[in-house]
Amino acid sequence: MEKNNKLRESRAVGAILGGAIGDALGVTNEIFPRADSLDAIHNDVLLQRLHFDGVQTEIVGGGPWTDAGLFLEPGEWTDDTAMMLCVADSLIVKSDFDAGDLMSRFFDWYERGYNSCRAHAFGVGRVVKRALENFDRANPGNPAGGSDPARDAGNGSLMRLAPVPVFYNEDLERAISVARAQSACTHHVDECLDGCALMTFLLWNGINGSKREEAGGLLNRCSGLSHPAIRELTEHADRWERLHSADIRTLPGRCVISLEAALWCFLTTESFEDALVRAVNLGGDSDTVGSITGQIAGSFYGREGIPERWIRTLKFRDEIEARAVALFQHGPWDGESMDLDRRKIPEA
Ligand SMILES: [Mg+2]
Repeated sequence: MEKNNKLRESRAVGAILGGAIGDALGVTNEIFPRADSLDAIHNDVLLQRLHFDGVQTEIVGGGPWTDAGLFLEPGEWTDDTAMMLCVADSLIVKSDFDAGDLMSRFFDWYERGYNSCRAHAFGVGRVVKRALENFDRANPGNPAGGSDPARDAGNGSLMRLAPVPVFYNEDLERAISVARAQSACTHHVDECLDGCALMTFLLWNGINGSKREEAGGLLNRCSGLSHPAIRELTEHADRWERLHSADIRTLPGRCVISLEAALWCFLTTESFEDALVRAVNLGGDSDTVGSITGQIAGSFYGREGIPERWIRTLKFRDEIEARAVALFQHGPWDGESMDLDRRKIPEA
């Protein structure tokens, strides 16, 4: 495995930027039927949202909040990235995982829009919302996320994950244990804990120099997975090429469903761009599948593998990248270059 620090930093930055770009690219199609089923659409309201030529390849904003009066500009992103930035901030400021601090930051986002690209939080997932409403800020102690496998196995702890392997980029065991612990804050079910462990294993190896061609084979080297459906994702590396778009679901926004979709997009393409275009055109929970795919693909293709036109369009890209570098290098908090609050985009 290569130990080229420049390459490792590029891949670390790629994982964080990739997650935000997948979110910003995917939001347009959120809750929208997938491109390959457009023939079946006879709903005028949905058709009005079809402002690309069947396949989306550009960051154009919009998405499901448009109908409620919140039109996202191109490059704005949602809860996935806001929560990812909270994970990043907590690790940078506390120099280690601190569940109470992390939950307080999630709560600040939820309550006053901290790290949102608007002045308030939007798109708060159901499982996250329940965990935050049960959180006692005066007594952060040991936050306990939802633990009902039927209800709480959402994809919300995958979509914010990249800061963990980026920060613990020299200690895989610690990265995996913190990945599980950050999930438990909101999603305390085996499916999510194992899903985060597997995704961290892949991201960590990507950051540390594994090649895209090795990624499929890497999965079954991830040990300690107990959830059968997550473990199944690691078996039969040749399964991915046999799956077709029609076999891949993105709804409901369940952990194993989203992870399978993201892995399929990553493992059946050969560039960051192709993986992301595939992911967001699956429709459904496209911002989160985009975010998960972007984190994984970014950790293998690096910052250089991300199309420059997408990076240029991303809102707060400098602040996001500054966090990625600080996480990777264990640098201090740089208020000037990292503060989103200072530069809030005003409400429309
Ligand atoms: Mg979202």
